[in-house]
Amino acid sequence: MAVLHLTGPVLVDDDRVEDHAWVVGDRITFERPRHSGNVTTVPGTVVPGLVDMHCHVGLDSGGATDPDLAVKQATVDRDAGTLLIRDAGSPLDTSFVHARDDLPRLIRAARFIARPKRYLRHYAREIEPADLPDVAEDEARKGDGWVKLIADWIDRDEGDLTPLWTPELLRAAMARVHAAGARATAHTFSTEAVGPLLEAGIDCLEHGTGMTAEHMAQAAAQGVPVVPTLLQVDNFVGFADAGAAKFPRYAARMRRMHERRYDHVRDLYEAGVTLLVGTDAGGTLGHGLLPQEATQMARAIPAPEVVAGASWRARRFLGADTLTEGASADLVVYPRDPRADIGVLHEPTAVVLRGARVAGGAG
Ligand SMILES: [Zn+2]
Repeated sequence: MAVLHLTGPVLVDDDRVEDHAWVVGDRITFERPRHSGNVTTVPGTVVPGLVDMHCHVGLDSGGATDPDLAVKQATVDRDAGTLLIRDAGSPLDTSFVHARDDLPRLIRAARFIARPKRYLRHYAREIEPADLPDVAEDEARKGDGWVKLIADWIDRDEGDLTPLWTPELLRAAMARVHAAGARATAHTFSTEAVGPLLEAGIDCLEHGTGMTAEHMAQAAAQGVPVVPTLLQVDNFVGFADAGAAKFPRYAARMRRMHERRYDHVRDLYEAGVTLLVGTDAGGTLGHGLLPQEATQMARAIPAPEVVAGASWRARRFLGADTLTEGASADLVVYPRDPRADIGVLHEPTAVVLRGARVAGGAG
């Protein structure tokens, strides 16, 4: 059996670093294997397979892709070191990915839930507000334990972002999602949508650009992580420009949030909110951008926090394997420690998925 000897260090958790590890078959072990057959030594810092917390497989700017393109998207993510994807909504049923050993592990949120004219066309299951609790439960049963709500979007009559759902509907929907054994996350750009989501028991927040200090304190107290998607927030200037003539209040708000984006992420961190890393790939952003997103986040918060948020911390939150004895060998090896040099995430020496070296370095 082929064996990889990882000479380490191996970053297991916030306070656990191992000197070396071995990949035997599809498993990781910290005990030196007895037989000394076909051993390949791979030097470098080992990190649990990266996690993209906000990635859309099977979606592009026009809506659902065909399955072949979804496979290409997931492969590009994999080759950048992303070995676990929490899908943040897809119009394509991507459950076939589960059967593909060569593709990253995928935790699907089934279809996004939005209202007609209150989100991008062809993306979401568009429903009337009163149907939210029923539909949220239905999507909870179709996904892999996650539901994705669009909580706010531009309201063209108001000329600004407004919430899509009342607090009562959110509470009812969250109760149904939780009763079905699932969790829910929500797209939010605005301030107005956040309080009712937190009150309703939302499990995670996407973007979160409108969060106030009070929201941050509440999210920290409730253990609700935020996925800041800085590459997406960088598009806010473009959204503002496109809407400026008709919707000046919206445009001004989007510009303000864009200007404060790094300060905002630092405020979240200082408030004690868990920050996880997500690219928002699939709509307009390309796949494979996790190293770029992590580099952006490291402009706002310490790099070791970004590395944790892109790997073991996200895995624990999702209930996925970390690099413990006997776990699936899903890991990435880098020539230097990304906690000291975040840019090294762009140049993995080896990407190992289910024990197979799938990408990285010279092969
Ligand atoms: Zn998204």
